Amino acid sequence: MTIRTIRRYTLTTLMLAMASTLSAQDLIARQAPIDVKLKAVDSITLNKIRKQELLINPSTDLYTSWNNKAVFCYSDDEVPETYKIDLRGFAMPTTSRKINSHVGYRPQFRRMHKGLDIKVYTGDTIYAAFSGKVRIRAFQPTGFGNVIVLRHGNGLETIYGHLSKHLVSEGEIVRAGQPIGLGGNTGRSFGSHLHFETRLVGALIDPEELFDFPNQDIKCDYYIFRKHGKNTKGEKNLNTSSQALAVATASSQTEEDNKNQDDKLIGKFYKVNAGENVSSIARKLDISVERLCNANNISRSTRLRPSQILRY
Ligand SMILES: [Zn+2]
Repeated sequence: MTIRTIRRYTLTTLMLAMASTLSAQDLIARQAPIDVKLKAVDSITLNKIRKQELLINPSTDLYTSWNNKAVFCYSDDEVPETYKIDLRGFAMPTTSRKINSHVGYRPQFRRMHKGLDIKVYTGDTIYAAFSGKVRIRAFQPTGFGNVIVLRHGNGLETIYGHLSKHLVSEGEIVRAGQPIGLGGNTGRSFGSHLHFETRLVGALIDPEELFDFPNQDIKCDYYIFRKHGKNTKGEKNLNTSSQALAVATASSQTEEDNKNQDDKLIGKFYKVNAGENVSSIARKLDISVERLCNANNISRSTRLRPSQILRY
């Protein structure tokens, strides 16, 4: 072997080695985004599973039992001292803006009125206020009449009384804004209306603290329930999660999912027009369908109502 040959040999080996190193780096470089993509897909799938679990077994941190017979069934459960209720992802139970009767003592009946009466006509559609599961579908002739009780992932239970018709079955999973019944005048009712209650482990919360029917909106993003002392409304559009609130957090996963988006997109609302759907609105707002869905706890196929308020 001449020196020249040795040199040539070494050079070839060197070049080969360099080439193989380059191609390996190239491979790693190509692979990295795939890994990132896979991780993103993983977390999306995981979040979907978590959200699904929340719907199948809503608020198991608060409720130990699932009772299909009694509207009030909380003897085994304790009302928490404080609880942070996530109101995002709401839908208005009715498009009616007229309140007939508030929560409070009624001297003529010598009893407390524990719900909010909203004027609806017989046959008007009543919608699920949040996503959740149907706990009660019953007829109580001397009380609520045809009644639906839903349990939600944010800790709340909502009660819809005096319906003329049920549209959902016991145990059914419902999405916020899904029709669950028709307005009516059944049970202890004088004139068609919706009797609407919002409760946390049976403890009454005035629905007007949460929902603004005249303006068809919620009063706050988060509502801090306090067993003793004054309840506080999470200031609207303020990311209260950044405050040091020593409270149990409802559906913290969903909150975490949406937090980053909310940080960027605080206080933007969109009122749905007739004929619009999730995709067309996302296009119009120039945001992804996924972002719109996450911010409102809805899915791509959720049917939207005209005048429904979406957050983005
Ligand atoms: Zn009532």
